[in-house]
Amino acid sequence: MRVVPNLYPAFARQEVVIHSPRHVRSLAELADDELRAVAEAWAARRDAFGGYLHACINEGHAAGSSLPHSHSQLVWFDEPPPEVARERGPAPIDDDLVVATRGDLRAAVHPAGRLPYETLIAGEPFDPADALFLLRDVVQRLRRVEGPVPWNAWLHPGHLELVPRLTVLAGVELGAGVYVNTIAPSDAADGLRTAAT
Ligand SMILES: [Zn+2]
Repeated sequence: MRVVPNLYPAFARQEVVIHSPRHVRSLAELADDELRAVAEAWAARRDAFGGYLHACINEGHAAGSSLPHSHSQLVWFDEPPPEVARERGPAPIDDDLVVATRGDLRAAVHPAGRLPYETLIAGEPFDPADALFLLRDVVQRLRRVEGPVPWNAWLHPGHLELVPRLTVLAGVELGAGVYVNTIAPSDAADGLRTAAT
């Protein structure tokens, strides 16, 4: 695992975490020790600077990734960005939509996801390493159901969010702010549960 400055930063401080010396394209292929190293890197870099650290993973060209090697992006903001400021209260985990658990954390399909298979990973206390293990679990399941689809994931205070990009955002989504999710959350949860890893 290695942390390097982003060669094309759009913000004052932006870094890239390279997840493995092996050429792995997906987080789904990372080993346990590699996942733990990623969680440690996120924490160490967060503690090294002030401000709000946004850690995210873009996988696949259609999800905004320009590198085929598994990596995450670290972006620092002066204050919590709008999506974080907008969220109030705990992540809406629905017992009936839980797909997998690890330690105190649960991964569940979002009850009102914007896109198919949108998933929340949350629990108390929130351990980012456990969250990354659950993320790998869900991505592995997703690949069994839908193939190697592009996806975005990001860390928010107390939870992690995964948004697979099976559909393209178009005029209704971007212009009206109305999202057409073509797979019911209960069907998505059934599919992911059935695709045991
Ligand atoms: Zn969130």
